[in-house]
Amino acid sequence: MDTNGIIDIELLEGLLFAMDEDSDIPVLTRQFKTFMDEMPGGFFIYRAGGKEEILYANAAMARIFGCSTMQEFKELTGNSFRGVVHPDDLDWVERSIVQQIAKSRNELDHVTYRILQKDGNVCWINDYGHFVRSKSLGDIFYVFIRDATEQNERELEEKNTIIKEKQLREQYLQKQIDEYSRELKVIHQEQLRRLEMIEGLSLDYESIFYVDLNENWIKAYRIGERYEKQFSQVGQPCKFEGFDVDYINTWVHPEDRKLLYGVSSPEYIRDRLSEDKTFHINYRICKGEKIVYIQLRVVNAKNDNPVSQVLLGYRNIDEEIIQEMKQMQMLTEALNEARVASRAKSVFLSNMSHDIRTPMNAIVGFTELMKRHMEDREKISDYLEMISDSSSQLLQLLNDVLEISRLESGSVYMEEAECSLTGILHQVHKDFAHRAEMKNIEFSLDLSKIRHDMVRTDQIKLAQILTYLVDNAVKYTPRGGWITLSILEKQGQSSHAVYQFIVEDSGIGISEEYLEQIFVPFEREKNTTLSGIHGMGIGLTITKNLTEMLGGTIEVSSKVGVGSKFTITIPLSVRADLEDMAEEDGAPIEYAAPKRILVVDDNEINLEIEIEVLKDAGFLVDTAEDGSIALEKIRCSAPGYYGLVLMDLQMPVMDGYHATRAIRRLDDQTLAGIPIIAVSANTFEEDKKQAMESGMNAHLAKPLDVEHLYKTIGKFLREDKQ
Ligand code: ADP
Repeated sequence: MDTNGIIDIELLEGLLFAMDEDSDIPVLTRQFKTFMDEMPGGFFIYRAGGKEEILYANAAMARIFGCSTMQEFKELTGNSFRGVVHPDDLDWVERSIVQQIAKSRNELDHVTYRILQKDGNVCWINDYGHFVRSKSLGDIFYVFIRDATEQNERELEEKNTIIKEKQLREQYLQKQIDEYSRELKVIHQEQLRRLEMIEGLSLDYESIFYVDLNENWIKAYRIGERYEKQFSQVGQPCKFEGFDVDYINTWVHPEDRKLLYGVSSPEYIRDRLSEDKTFHINYRICKGEKIVYIQLRVVNAKNDNPVSQVLLGYRNIDEEIIQEMKQMQMLTEALNEARVASRAKSVFLSNMSHDIRTPMNAIVGFTELMKRHMEDREKISDYLEMISDSSSQLLQLLNDVLEISRLESGSVYMEEAECSLTGILHQVHKDFAHRAEMKNIEFSLDLSKIRHDMVRTDQIKLAQILTYLVDNAVKYTPRGGWITLSILEKQGQSSHAVYQFIVEDSGIGISEEYLEQIFVPFEREKNTTLSGIHGMGIGLTITKNLTEMLGGTIEVSSKVGVGSKFTITIPLSVRADLEDMAEEDGAPIEYAAPKRILVVDDNEINLEIEIEVLKDAGFLVDTAEDGSIALEKIRCSAPGYYGLVLMDLQMPVMDGYHATRAIRRLDDQTLAGIPIIAVSANTFEEDKKQAMESGMNAHLAKPLDVEHLYKTIGKFLREDKQ
């Protein structure tokens, strides 16, 4: 063999063919043959041309082809290279060998092909060939072959393993990619959400810019109409310094320009943002004649120091400013109102102390005079009249003050019931007829324009309203004047009618300025105050409140020196059939036998007054000092012995409410049904309500109005009679 590892062909030829021709060196040939036959791989020589006849094949060749003898091998292959190669591979194998030999410097080739073993098995073999031009044998191929099935299988296995690994790796990578894509999607969605959020939050901003103070550029993210000229495109950077000069000169109110120039300087922004994350300034822009308020908000976008990246946002805050201004105005008005109210209250207090002092002085003074003139009945009678007048003045004052505080606290309730309008008006007229007469005032009542008399309303409140108005008319009409109280019924809807109650006088009148605040509590006109007519300025406030509670309105027209006209308009539900209420009006009550009244009161003076008043009217009177005594007296009495009970509400041992409930529970129906009238200093609606709920029939306020007391007693005793 030469140094290249290629068989020395001359030597091999010599060795082989000397042996074949039975030469004189048999040992060496035999040794070589043995050597070749014991080689693990196959070796054969075949001619390069012709039938490609096999000139030599070692024993391993027979083994590889599954033949037991060389003879079998020769028969299987036809002793030709063409019989060695699987028929399906022969063509490309021969082509490949020719091509390889042509290219190879050492005329070597290597092919892997299939062979058909004797039993029909297909095996793979590796073929390493060497083309030789031999002098003696012509062109031949020396070929070494080796079973490649195992190697092929191993390679296949390796290939499969590699493919599998590759697939696994690919799967792993795919998984990573999927996961990454998912994360990317989530991030993307989150990013989108954030963008939407920012978009949503920044909706109010008409222009939004991003600024790099270090690099001195500004990018627009939203461009409002007033910045359109400076920024042609969203996202395109421009030079920051001076970017808003044109905007400021065109739009900003001249007084605010300096302020805005200052804000767009990097030093100013850095300075302001060195401590706070954001700051803003408000300025005005001119939109033609109109002024619009804009807010520029500057935000440190990166939170770095010194500040480099900032956001500028411009938004219209016109509505907020207007709202703020309105609120300011409201606050100022409220403050003024509070001041006015406080001033009015001070005036009220001074009026009040004056108005209390005057009747008090009279009471104290005349009481003193009475003591001195005990023997002079005429004088005493005069003094008593004065004391009585002053007392009612004081009482009115007290009632008014209480009423206004109750109205203000909202604790006054409506007590609707069927009532006669003419009855109410008659009563009011009657109440003031005397006072008017004393002042020589002609006081007329006009009921001609009423069609439905019976209505549902709170008659006490309605009477109160008219009382306040007529009281003022009498107060503010000089001697010799006139007053009319009239009612006008207008067509209403179905069972409703609209009523107008008019109180007109020829009095001193009210100035136009004062008319504006006539219903403001504690306000009085100067001329009235100066004229010395007493009053506190709350009567009309109460009147207005009461009117509104009844669902009505109040109007006033007046002329100084000519007179005033107050009109109350209230829609009321009416009863179709006219009913005459006049029967309750004052006619003396006559009974078959004197009626006995049980007066229940723990206060001796009250008891005494009530006894006298009742006795004067011809009643028999019995007394009880508290509810439990009254209960006992009634329980033990014969039915009909007592005609009626006047019951105080607040008493020791048992109060009026409990006593009434207990009486109503008595077994005897006549005793249990006895009329009970509450007489109490508690005049609030709730007390009345509570009295009625506990089973009482009526409620009278202390101090007692004697006329009213008689009328109420009469009503129940008459009902009793029927
Ligand atoms: P008062 O009469 O106690 O002062 P009011 O609230 O009833 O309080 O009335 C407020 C003011 O309205 C009176 O002080 C008076 O100046 C004016 N006023 C009310 N009624 C009349 C009227 N009929 N004529 C003239 N002035 C009136």
